[in-house]
Amino acid sequence: MDRSKAKQRIRELTSEINYHNYRYYVLDRPQVSDAHYDALYRELVEIEKRFPELVLPNSPTSRGGDKVSGEFAEVTHSRRRLSLDDAFSFEEIEEFEERIKKLISKDVDYVCELKIDGLQIVLTYKKGLLAIGATRGDGRIGEDVTHTIRTVRDIPLELSQPIDVVVSGEIYISKKDFEAINRGQERASGPLYANPRNLAAGTVRQLDPKVASSRRLKSFLYDIEGEVAPKTQVEVLATLKKLGFAVNGDNELCRDLDGVRKFIDGWASKRESLPYITDGVVIKVNSLLQRDRLGATAKAPRWAIAYKFPAEKKETRVLDIKVQVGRQGTLTPVAILKPVRLAGTTVSRATLHNEDEIRRKDVRVGDTVMVQKAGDIIPEVIRVIKEKRPSGTKEFKMPARCPICNGPVVKVEGEVAYRCANKNCFVVQVRKLEHFVSRDAFDMEGLGTKIVEQLYKEGLVRDPADLFTLEEGDIEPLERFAEKSAENLIRSIQSSEEVTLDRFIYALGILHVGDQTARDLAYYFGSLSKIMRASSAQLAGVGGVGAVVAKSVADFFQEPRNQRLVDKLLGAGVRVKSAAKPRSNKLVGKTFVLTGTLSSMSREEAEAKIRSLGGKASSSVSKETDYVVAGDSTGSKYEKAKKLGVNILSEEEFRQLL
Ligand code: NAD
Repeated sequence: MDRSKAKQRIRELTSEINYHNYRYYVLDRPQVSDAHYDALYRELVEIEKRFPELVLPNSPTSRGGDKVSGEFAEVTHSRRRLSLDDAFSFEEIEEFEERIKKLISKDVDYVCELKIDGLQIVLTYKKGLLAIGATRGDGRIGEDVTHTIRTVRDIPLELSQPIDVVVSGEIYISKKDFEAINRGQERASGPLYANPRNLAAGTVRQLDPKVASSRRLKSFLYDIEGEVAPKTQVEVLATLKKLGFAVNGDNELCRDLDGVRKFIDGWASKRESLPYITDGVVIKVNSLLQRDRLGATAKAPRWAIAYKFPAEKKETRVLDIKVQVGRQGTLTPVAILKPVRLAGTTVSRATLHNEDEIRRKDVRVGDTVMVQKAGDIIPEVIRVIKEKRPSGTKEFKMPARCPICNGPVVKVEGEVAYRCANKNCFVVQVRKLEHFVSRDAFDMEGLGTKIVEQLYKEGLVRDPADLFTLEEGDIEPLERFAEKSAENLIRSIQSSEEVTLDRFIYALGILHVGDQTARDLAYYFGSLSKIMRASSAQLAGVGGVGAVVAKSVADFFQEPRNQRLVDKLLGAGVRVKSAAKPRSNKLVGKTFVLTGTLSSMSREEAEAKIRSLGGKASSSVSKETDYVVAGDSTGSKYEKAKKLGVNILSEEEFRQLL
């Protein structure tokens, strides 16, 4: 590569990687797989190494870590939280050892730990009590996410000893919970999360702790400093365990690189059976004294390296591209693949997301493609092997008519999606019914996809309200229905006639309204008629509801067919109860931030009181904050509130308000 080519490529890679960093760290929505990103990054590192004078000032290689989004209060870490150097082959681990041996003449032991694919957090405990939970951020400054960290059930709020320590580790989401959350997103026609790591990061960086709490985050801790004196990593892990933290037991002390190799080889295949995702092995020098001697470079410690398991990739053929229709009528192209074994499962389909994505990759029927599992879970087509393309293939085009009902297909303005415009499309109707009876909606047991389809096809149920008028005699004659199961089904439907308002709203399947938004609306308005009458502007006033969602809700209730559906449901015997929480709605729509120490109650008690009255307790002050409650020894939040002109309440005023 000559100098001018290098210059050009450096410019391209710098801007592309910076773009992916933004999507990954700030939006938590990556566009490409980690393997793809890592390849771009390494290419840039290689070229920069050969032409150091061409390195751009905004090069991503000179910056370790995530950007701070500005939504949360900043936390300055007591010491720099560095990233880790990567190794993609065993040779690179040997080079890592050679570098160590140049600085340390004695034997070096290593501890191998599984690299948890999550988000690094830093927890500060004061006298044994959790004081601050923060993200790593850019390594120097992280974000104060104490409010969501507190919802992580395996993070102790109080340690077994009253000491001052700073602990760090990883927050993650299990494979099972990740899949369940994505299924929920699918039902609500929301965007799917790319992988558990981005979902965990997005959850920790949620403003609303309720959302975080519902997502069942978990943790593994691996580092501690402060009023403890471990001498080795083995002792660090034991100390953490004794204090009450979750520590991953799948680690091993290795006397040499042979042991390290065995650990890596063993987990390369066994890792599939773990309930969480591990994307590699972190190899750490065991002795903390030796670590001190080794120190760190600007970006990473010299005493540790992260070996990354290669993403398993396979070649296969695209047999067909089918177009699926979702509940909102959205058309999604899916590649039907010649079945291939990949990371523990047989893959025979891979989503192609939308037309833009297919066009970018130019995937065609008959193509040989490379597939891999993104985040080890969702199969994706990485690229087409163009040399293997047979002649006569055609570029993919979105159908002009719905493949199910032949209705017209329209492109939604401002979105990449195409939708079937026929409101009576069979699949759309059946998916809507499925959603209506699902667990978080009316929760009708025994009504699976097959039965719903059958009821629809037979003309017995055309909309959700028809479910409530079904009688045993209607369904008994249907195939597979004996007297007993017909009776059970009717009983199950009848027992779900009474629902809470949030479930009712969720069940209606309004575009962009998932269970959380439904809850927000229910708590805020308190009654169905108020929600139905609310204007876009009023809806957008609800915390957590943006302009797009607000418009979608208002549009939904303005449509006569939806109004008729609600009337029909109520006429058929459905009873809507107000949502259980909060006990009162005195503080609904109000966001509070607590700062300093309160004398009459703990911070948790104060937050619980605010929530029980319908308000929100947040940890960072912004323009959206309604009140800052100032106890003793306030800090930066108080200053910020003053600067932004937010109402500041003394403890006494706060108590009166409650
Ligand atoms: P990293 O993921 O390569 O590794 C370092 C991190 O591993 C540590 O910060 C820590 O949080 C974590 N870790 C997990 N288990 C650990 C253990 N037992 N001990 C110590 N640390 C442990 O580095 P990074 O800086 O967090 O992220 C960079 C990576 O993120 C890239 O290599 C890439 O894979 C991914 N990324 C992807 C995109 C994309 O668009 N797909 C964009 C940016 C970054």
